[in-house]
Amino acid sequence: MRQPLVAGNWKMNGSLASVRELLAGLKAGIDDVKVAEVAVCPPAVFIPEVQAQLEGTPIAWGGQDLSVHESGAYTGEIAGPMLTDFGCKYVIIGHSERRTYHGETDQLVAEKFTAARKAGLVPLFCIGETQEERESGITEEVVARQIDAVIEHCGVDMLGEGVIAYEPVWAIGTGLTATPEQAQEVHAFIRQRIAQSNAEVAEGLRILYGGSMKPGNAAELLANPDIDGGLIGGASLKAEDFLGICTAAND
Ligand code: PEP
Repeated sequence: MRQPLVAGNWKMNGSLASVRELLAGLKAGIDDVKVAEVAVCPPAVFIPEVQAQLEGTPIAWGGQDLSVHESGAYTGEIAGPMLTDFGCKYVIIGHSERRTYHGETDQLVAEKFTAARKAGLVPLFCIGETQEERESGITEEVVARQIDAVIEHCGVDMLGEGVIAYEPVWAIGTGLTATPEQAQEVHAFIRQRIAQSNAEVAEGLRILYGGSMKPGNAAELLANPDIDGGLIGGASLKAEDFLGICTAAND
């Protein structure tokens, strides 16, 4: 039985004041979340504040990216051991915004997967097709390529120590959500693709959906057999909306 996970990706948003307000709201409502595991991924500078506020609560936290290196002359980068030092459990890797704006390749993302595991972090490994790729009918080819890169570099057992987030790029921050049928179809494909390497890993792996998930559409997405939670962007910035998605996993 896979426990649903709902993780918030705050992206590059917030101030110390707004982060404190958001955390207070999350702490006040978290007791109503009975089923899902919950995590938030703030901008790195807010991680110490998040740790101070969330330590001892059921809410975990994580980074939004990490370096492939453990330390050294890499200005601006953050190493996996630094994230674990501040209590992070998770780290997002391969988000489409990093692939697009920072030129992250499948190979680099696979190296980041290994770096995360080496530091004891659970990678939230993002994959997904662009609108153009979907319209060209190559969605499965794209997600298979993204998954295979990690399997080839890390091995399927290590892949199984992470969490996959299927995030169709055309649905991120656009208000366009994949229909439950579209999402389930790709999630089932992803699981079956991993099963070709190891059926047990495929069965145990959580595959989250991400892309304009909101309290109003979460329940119908989460009801699908291969959708094991959500990676939430915009809606994770409002405690009420994020908790609404988390409680949708209760039903
Ligand atoms: C994301 O950035 O991972 C995401 C899913 O964003 P949004 O929910 O805003 O579409």
